[in-house]
Amino acid sequence: MSPPIPASREVPAAPGPLLLDTLGRPLRDLRISVTDRCNFRCVYCMPKEVFGKDYAFLERNALLRFEEITRLARVFQRLGIEKIRLTGGEPLVRRNLEQLIAMLGELPGLDLTLTTNGSILAKKAQALKAAGLKRVTVSLDALDNATFMRMNDVDFPVERVIEGIDAAAAAGLGPIKVNMVVKRGVNEHGIVPMAKFFRERGHILRFIEYMDVGATNGWRLDDVVTAREIVAMIGAEMPLAPADANYTGEVAERWRYTDGSGEIGVIASVTQAFCRDCTRARISTEGKLYTCLFASAGHDLRTLLREGASDDELEQTVRAIWTRRSDRYSEIRTSQTVQVKKIEMSYIGG
Ligand code: SAM
Ligand code: SF4
Ligand code: SF4
Repeated sequence: MSPPIPASREVPAAPGPLLLDTLGRPLRDLRISVTDRCNFRCVYCMPKEVFGKDYAFLERNALLRFEEITRLARVFQRLGIEKIRLTGGEPLVRRNLEQLIAMLGELPGLDLTLTTNGSILAKKAQALKAAGLKRVTVSLDALDNATFMRMNDVDFPVERVIEGIDAAAAAGLGPIKVNMVVKRGVNEHGIVPMAKFFRERGHILRFIEYMDVGATNGWRLDDVVTAREIVAMIGAEMPLAPADANYTGEVAERWRYTDGSGEIGVIASVTQAFCRDCTRARISTEGKLYTCLFASAGHDLRTLLREGASDDELEQTVRAIWTRRSDRYSEIRTSQTVQVKKIEMSYIGG
């Protein structure tokens, strides 16, 4: 049986009252998916067999417009959000994304970042920086083309992602983080080479345990290379020591090289769930609010926006949703929950 859940409550905190869910978790960061489309077909996210040429992506009018996203961001800021990450799908395939970044950049005190597959970053890095983007996280799963192409499944070469990372660094979009999803039997041989490569470049590499997101990637627990294994593999060649979290709720566990040459992160979403500190909400491409990455349903904010709801009404709606939140999927994952149909990551935003 689950432990008793404390009643929801609001405690005063500057500048406004802190909004807490039923497990006492504040709402602090927001991920916004700006498109459900992507130019990659990563096997763990948008497998080709499902996201083929007949796949029905959202129509243009279904997508939240930039004004709508900005308005929601402002409302969420009133509720305590300090950080927004734009994601997708591949956010850089959304036309004129720089415009959205400039609009969000006007919100005072907002920490604005973006996660990208890096494929068009070389072309866009300067414009993104000029629009007001602070940092980027780039996903890259291998350094050898055979493995990387097997994972992105569109024959996209590693070199162009590296060019994107270099361009982002040159544009001042750092510190840059690089995300590597590790799938057993596919790319774990790349763990140590990736660690060496990004240690030399001075970027923070973060290893993500392969997750059972969505309903299409055919996830099996056996395919997960655990964070413990990853740390052991790297530590055997380049000694590591645990480092303190930068802030409460940081999902990556930090490890630093003992010779002072940098750090890595491991995101053990499967083997060491961190739901108790999860302060994250997500807005899908079509404007639904999800309070967990593994949710099967969201709350429609787009209709409210388009039917003329005021900022106060939107705020009250989100407040009501968050105060009822009790999600802790990863802590209670079982072979049964894995079977439940969940929303796809490309739509909800990773
Ligand atoms: N297209 C962008 C990218 O790949 O960086 C942003 C969206 S993607 C859904 C966000 C992050 O989720 C990426 O770092 C990706 O590797 C990660 N991801 C996708 N599917 C995953 C899975 N099944 N398990 C773990 N991480 C996953
Ligand atoms: Fe596209 Fe990112 Fe998903 Fe890969 S992980 S298919 S790049 S959205
Ligand atoms: Fe947060 Fe849901 Fe992930 Fe738990 S499973 S950390 S509640 S998103």
